[in-house]
Amino acid sequence: MTPLRVLILGGTGEALALSRALVGDHRFAATLSLAGRTTLPVLPPIGHRLGGFGGVTGMVAYLRTERIAALVDATHPFAAQISRHAQRAARESGIPLLALRRPAWEPKPGEHWTMVPDLGAGVAALGRAPRRVFLTIGRQELAPFRAAPWHFYVIRSVEPPDPAHLPPRAEIIAARGPFAEADERALLIEKGIEVLVTKNSGAQAVRGKLDAARGLGIAVVMVTRPILPDADHVAADAEGARAWLVARHAELTRRGV
Ligand code: NAP
Repeated sequence: MTPLRVLILGGTGEALALSRALVGDHRFAATLSLAGRTTLPVLPPIGHRLGGFGGVTGMVAYLRTERIAALVDATHPFAAQISRHAQRAARESGIPLLALRRPAWEPKPGEHWTMVPDLGAGVAALGRAPRRVFLTIGRQELAPFRAAPWHFYVIRSVEPPDPAHLPPRAEIIAARGPFAEADERALLIEKGIEVLVTKNSGAQAVRGKLDAARGLGIAVVMVTRPILPDADHVAADAEGARAWLVARHAELTRRGV
């Protein structure tokens, strides 16, 4: 049969790993779609596209035009809108959808996180007394912290944030993970961090900061995940997603499609 045309909605390490795993596999013709949030994204040697589709209607049109036969939602766990759009577009188009959902971080023994539903609640959890805060929440949602200008913020993101979104007392570290626990520990000590605010992405590549914070007795404010839509097919990692695609290809080959 002709290669199975696959669209991978990305923005995660898993999307990248899946894309790389499909390189050279002639059963598949895969395209990776990125929101275009970073100016220099890491791109695998497969087809790619950048930027929004224009809502569900736009995604449905894309799926039809590109004759996509399998859709993989490997987006970030906090990117709930694109996941909802993927579910609706897949249903409307009759295309099977697999959601790649990496497990959330769970507190280890000795870890006591303050769980908050969103960043507004995260700001409130920091309290009224000035603290030195490490923010690893990306660069797009910093504005709520302007409401608590008495804290000093060390902000780490892949690319520098828009200065207009920054709280007044802030230092920027532009860096892309993975980050080893020992390096995180050194950073927390060097910057005199008293509390860490992060989103429960579940990515192992950036869990080191939590282990380092536990070791140093540093408080953690954890933003819990948004609710994501149900999916008929779910995998926890890139290999699981690849196995699903292989099964889908085998099924279509059997049916002579
Ligand atoms: P979102 O709220 O789910 O998506 C907003 C819009 O961006 C979507 O409706 C879609 O536009 C476009 N979009 C998102 N992902 C796309 C993809 N893979 N390919 C094409 N278009 C895509 O997601 P977000 O605004 O990017 O981010 C929300 C949260 O996720 C933030 O907390 C952010 O820190 C976190 N996050 C996102 C990414 C990422 O790569 N997107 C990476 C790391 C963290 P249309 O409606 O026009 O199709």
